[in-house]
Amino acid sequence: MSEGGILSRLCARIDALEPEMVAVQRALVALPAISPKSGGEGEKAKADYLRALLQSWGLPVEEYRAPDKDVPCGYRPSLVARLKGRESSPTLWIMTHLDVVPAGPRDLWESDPFVARVEDGRIYGRGTEDNQQEMVASMFCVKAMLDLELRPATDVCLMLVADEETGSALGAEWLLANHRLCRPADLVLVPDAGNSEGTMLEVAEKSICWLRFTTLGRQAHASAPHHGNNAHRAGANLLVRLDRLLHEKYAAEDALFSPPGSTIEPTKKEANVPNVNTIPAEDVFYLDCRMLPQYRLDDVLADAKRVAAEVAAEFRVEVKVGTEQFAQAAPATPADAPIVKMLARAVREVWSRDAEPRGIGGGTVAACFRRLGIPAVVWGRYAGQAHGPNEYCIIANMVGDAKVYAHLCGRFAGWT
Ligand SMILES: [Zn+2]
Repeated sequence: MSEGGILSRLCARIDALEPEMVAVQRALVALPAISPKSGGEGEKAKADYLRALLQSWGLPVEEYRAPDKDVPCGYRPSLVARLKGRESSPTLWIMTHLDVVPAGPRDLWESDPFVARVEDGRIYGRGTEDNQQEMVASMFCVKAMLDLELRPATDVCLMLVADEETGSALGAEWLLANHRLCRPADLVLVPDAGNSEGTMLEVAEKSICWLRFTTLGRQAHASAPHHGNNAHRAGANLLVRLDRLLHEKYAAEDALFSPPGSTIEPTKKEANVPNVNTIPAEDVFYLDCRMLPQYRLDDVLADAKRVAAEVAAEFRVEVKVGTEQFAQAAPATPADAPIVKMLARAVREVWSRDAEPRGIGGGTVAACFRRLGIPAVVWGRYAGQAHGPNEYCIIANMVGDAKVYAHLCGRFAGWT
């Protein structure tokens, strides 16, 4: 049989597995894995089901338990299932998350969020898209290889983690800190975000820094400003100066991102006095800054504090600078890293679309890998239903993305 034949047989097998994929989605929807921080009992029931299922296929599964006294079982489970290849390096990791967000207001849903409804090529239910679409897709790519007794060239590992929706401290971050699972030579795919065409390969993130500026003056009647010290005027001047300085100093652009530059936006403003004729003694505003990764957030904060000190001296007020969020971006995955190129090729082969490396303005769980020097790509073909009411997964996306994984595995094995 020709090499091309292997890959088309694998994809035909994935097509044949579609009813089973839908059945597993149904089972998963009925096992809501909600973090205790969001009022749930964690991932145990879902992880137990998935471990048993993967083992029933003949896959060895390791379970890792992050202690958590806030759930009845006392731990947050993450699973690793390994399909052995002819060699173990580089391992291809496909990481998806077990947890889902709460359903939100029930009246916004057209049917029970925890009973899957299949209609018009879609599966409705909480978690069907985020992140079960790709969890099931990656599982059934492996199942298809098992069914056809195909051995990949290198190990293919499914990593099913807890706690992604509330920060990953008891999921990916804990797992990578406590168990040496991945090596820098490995290839990591985190199919947890993407666009409707499946063409966005997310490789970089901006750093996020939310700054709070509290200006303290002295209250007085508005007709007698000489008796007071207007915190609002000082705060407004501070805002204008910060806006100018930060935009001028941190002006670089990188075409990987959209928009290409750092964003520095005044956002929240706390209420001061309720009436017009009082000079306010306090002024509080916030900046949401998303900086290109080459900039150090420590430098941004130092600049903000320097401008604040100048304004404080000039207007004879006190200015405090605080941070609400302060997360330096992980180093970017190089846009020409092997995983990026191989994935782009697999997307072209399956979806006939050109995928491109992109940067985004917020953080993803891929940062856990990038901080360890392991190149990770975030990708997926998504309808964009995550966290909304009536969340659904397009079955064709789930099946097609399973074939993208098959092409990725085939690339290693030479099943071109
Ligand atoms: Zn997700």
